Amino acid sequence: DGDDGDECRWVSEFVERVQESIDDLTDLDRQAGDGDFGTNMAAALRHFSLPLRGSDAAVLEAVSTSFLVRAGGTSGALFGMLFSELARAFADTDDRADALRTGTVEALRRIQEIGGARVGDDTLVDALSPAADALGSDGSLSDVATAAADGAESTRDLVASRGRASYLGDRARGVVDPGALVVAWFFAAAAGDA
Ligand code: ADP
Ligand code: MG
Ligand code: MG
Repeated sequence: DGDDGDECRWVSEFVERVQESIDDLTDLDRQAGDGDFGTNMAAALRHFSLPLRGSDAAVLEAVSTSFLVRAGGTSGALFGMLFSELARAFADTDDRADALRTGTVEALRRIQEIGGARVGDDTLVDALSPAADALGSDGSLSDVATAAADGAESTRDLVASRGRASYLGDRARGVVDPGALVVAWFFAAAAGDA
């Protein structure tokens, strides 16, 4: 999509939403984790000035590199992986739904291979997996965004068995997993100006 100088609006919208929500994300990880998730997201995304410009593939690759190089924590590695697979998929096709499907399925596979989380473990997999399913079932991108948002919301009633949030046990009940929320925001942005 587009020349190097063109705005990549949808990824810009995602980055902006995270940039504006750092304090909220920190609060969520304080309640249900070790409190560093907002800091890790800020480290990865704060430095981008908006709008991001370039092809979808180039912008997604820049976001991936930033997560991998700048952000700490589990989320730096896992979001780095997600955006790397998305970048690779967008390099192969200009069709957003096609690229999202390929990239999301591959990223989910790698994230589960490395992190071992399944649906119901109160992680970003709870948003990514239903998004992958919806992308595979011919719905619209707004159906995909809804599936991811519902998946993120489902973590409110869960207690983590993976990641640092698992050390807190029942204290984390009632809190949405911040990683799942950010995944849902990504698919909302993808559906937004399609
Ligand atoms: P840490 O747990 O190292 O402090 P962050 O705070 O950076 O990591 O990121 C926490 C987020 O990472 C969680 O909200 C969750 O969505 C995600 N996460 C943690 N462990 C896993 C895992 N094993 N698989 C998938 N996602 C995970
Ligand atoms: Mg944390
Ligand atoms: Mg940590």
